[in-house]
Amino acid sequence: MAADQNRILIIEDEGNIARVLQLELEHEGYAAEIAGDGIDGLARATDEEWDLILLDIMLPGLNGIEVLRRIRRQDEEIPVLLLTARDSIPDKVAGLDQGANDYITKPFEMEEVLARIRANLRYRNASREKNTSRPLRVGDLYLDPKTRQVRRGERKIRLTPREFDLLTYLMRHAGQVLEREQIIQDVWGFDYAGDTNVVDVYIRYLRQKIDKGAPAPLIHTVRGVGYTLREHDG
Ligand code: CA
Repeated sequence: MAADQNRILIIEDEGNIARVLQLELEHEGYAAEIAGDGIDGLARATDEEWDLILLDIMLPGLNGIEVLRRIRRQDEEIPVLLLTARDSIPDKVAGLDQGANDYITKPFEMEEVLARIRANLRYRNASREKNTSRPLRVGDLYLDPKTRQVRRGERKIRLTPREFDLLTYLMRHAGQVLEREQIIQDVWGFDYAGDTNVVDVYIRYLRQKIDKGAPAPLIHTVRGVGYTLREHDG
């Protein structure tokens, strides 16, 4: 699977419709998978990483509106396109209230489905881009992902690319306790089978540059777990 391939989850109990959607989406270069009822659909929607969800409203197990409501409790960003057999105003209103991004009324033209998927993915990618390029601040620590400038107070800090990536990650998750394995996966970008000492090594480098000589440290060790970056310890 290509790394930049968009993943789409189809939650639809009508097998032939789900299958047609899957084939057409795969033909367009998406990775598409099917969940056949509301319960399985909700579990897969929240347990796995998706770029977009096609969600039927009339589903056995748990109806689409309820599935959507529960997805939105966990993820406000993911585009969800509702499929509805009826051109039903109450369904549309309920769907919008629960944070649906778009509607497709059955029977649909595949070209229209594909166009709406493209539009919603474009919008999502644009807003992701905006979020990832915004400057980060924790206490007097400042990091600008665009210019790659880092400052602690007035002091400019020079980081290697890996140190920069690690600090960006810690700042994006400020206040959270991050396990070494998780840091390895997200910063080094692979499932690291070996030991995770490399994280400790890079944390030491960062402490030298960020915290040394500062009135209060920002990087904290959480014994037996990992690390956290926050303004006040405890
Ligand atoms: Ca259905």
